Amino acid sequence: MMKLDGKALAAKLKDGFAEEIKGFAEKGLRPPCLAVVLVGEDPASQIYVRSKHNDCLSVGIKSLMYTMAADTAEDELFGLIDSLNADDSVDGILVQLPLPAGLDERAVTERIRPDKDVDAFSAVNVGCITLGREGFKPCTPAGIMRLLAEYGIKAEGKECVVVGRSNIVGKPMSLLLLQDGGTVTTCHSKTSDLASHTRRADILVVAVGKEKLINGDMVKDGAVVVDVGMNRGENGLCGDVDFESCAGKVSYITPVPGGVGPMTRAMLLENTLTAYKNHVKK
Ligand code: NAP
Repeated sequence: MMKLDGKALAAKLKDGFAEEIKGFAEKGLRPPCLAVVLVGEDPASQIYVRSKHNDCLSVGIKSLMYTMAADTAEDELFGLIDSLNADDSVDGILVQLPLPAGLDERAVTERIRPDKDVDAFSAVNVGCITLGREGFKPCTPAGIMRLLAEYGIKAEGKECVVVGRSNIVGKPMSLLLLQDGGTVTTCHSKTSDLASHTRRADILVVAVGKEKLINGDMVKDGAVVVDVGMNRGENGLCGDVDFESCAGKVSYITPVPGGVGPMTRAMLLENTLTAYKNHVKK
């Protein structure tokens, strides 16, 4: 068994981004810029927003942080998004989800200009993935594809099973595996006999949010297993896959932490850098 080391790959990618951004500065160009908006005081969101800010600074991306009260009116939030949309020095805009009750996540997501939608949650960017067109890809599935590629793992010709069908992970993950030539099954809470599907998988991606949902009896010998889950329990951070019972059976597996999480963060930087390159070239 080999670990798919997302932490190491993310560090390597970040070194490359930093080098590239240094090159832009040497040419006298402005730095790339990501604006992050946090509405309310959800503690987990505060941590995510802070780490995105630090990630940006570590590679030379300018980071703008906006915090708004939980009872902010939709019009006020739209006003901020509109001004960031219009600001030519801002390349990426991210409104941290979930939003407090009373704010419509769909309307807020759609307000962000698609060329600045570095989270890739808007209908335009999701549509581009579905149609196989150029566009931003959501950071978690994009990071997983990059991690698989780093280890020479291709979906082509393989049975791929994705557990979870959320708009931000499961669904786009299934589409990217399909695009890479995989034969894809998407499982969810209504799937009957989950194990009969997971046991067929050459590549198994689990994005559910239930500690140790998948154990060694549910995976095929030699499978590649990607654990997206981030569950905070008594024993700290824990994935959706029981690492110990799977480790002796699989060919590759992502650790939690140190697998998918760092890749997700690196892909946000990459999307911001891509948005920047598209903007400065205009
Ligand atoms: P989500 O929106 O809650 O979706 C969970 C999915 O799992 C749903 O599609 C649900 O099915 C399905 N599901 C629930 N119980 C199931 C069961 N017993 N068997 C099979 N499927 C089941 O969650 P998410 O946003 O996709 O995130 C999933 C996990 O990944 C969470 O732990 C989250 O914290 C983590 N995550 C990690 C990263 C990272 O960078 N590492 C990024 C994003 C998310 P239905 O659709 O039928 O309800």
